Amino acid sequence: MDTWESFVEACLECRKCPLCETRTNVVVGRGANLKAPLMFIGEGPGEQEDIEGYAFVGRAGKLLDLALEALMFEPCHYYIANIVKCRPPGNRIPSEAEAQACLPWLRFQVKYIRPSIIVCLGSTAAKHIIDKKFRITQERGTWIEKPGFFSILATYHPSAVLRDPGKKVDFFQDLKKVRTRMQAENLWQIHGTNP
Ligand code: URA
Repeated sequence: MDTWESFVEACLECRKCPLCETRTNVVVGRGANLKAPLMFIGEGPGEQEDIEGYAFVGRAGKLLDLALEALMFEPCHYYIANIVKCRPPGNRIPSEAEAQACLPWLRFQVKYIRPSIIVCLGSTAAKHIIDKKFRITQERGTWIEKPGFFSILATYHPSAVLRDPGKKVDFFQDLKKVRTRMQAENLWQIHGTNP
């Protein structure tokens, strides 16, 4: 697995966990720039993602897209992936075994894309990527540094924002923080792909 194409091919054939039995599509991710400076990591595909085969294309994804557009992010700035690539039935949280079976695929994506910033969307992503004891309500919005690799910030999952609009302001502020950092670190102007 040394090219992106061979990675995608291998993902599409994956049968490492029982989620392969119930999936319609393997959801590898979403994003046009495979060298994007920013990577979002969600939990796992929902119903719409399972149908279409792309990450965050349902209601939660529409909210994420809307917030990113309002903040002037462009598609070239980011790539979106999930902890698991197949839909857990009924949108339940993926089990530890499912997440562990799937994480090598995500690691490949992080190594290939080499984002400078990773944003965990919600508690499941934060627990797997940052710390299994991560508490999203208390710890969201703070930077965690992995020198030489990337900086990480967790925010609310857009589905949680849809359920509780009181979380909207924090969610928006967190994304604004990401933009400010990208601008400060010269990650905002992507030569040839945005003005
Ligand atoms: N929720 C997620 O965590 N990921 C998706 O791709 C869609 C909804």
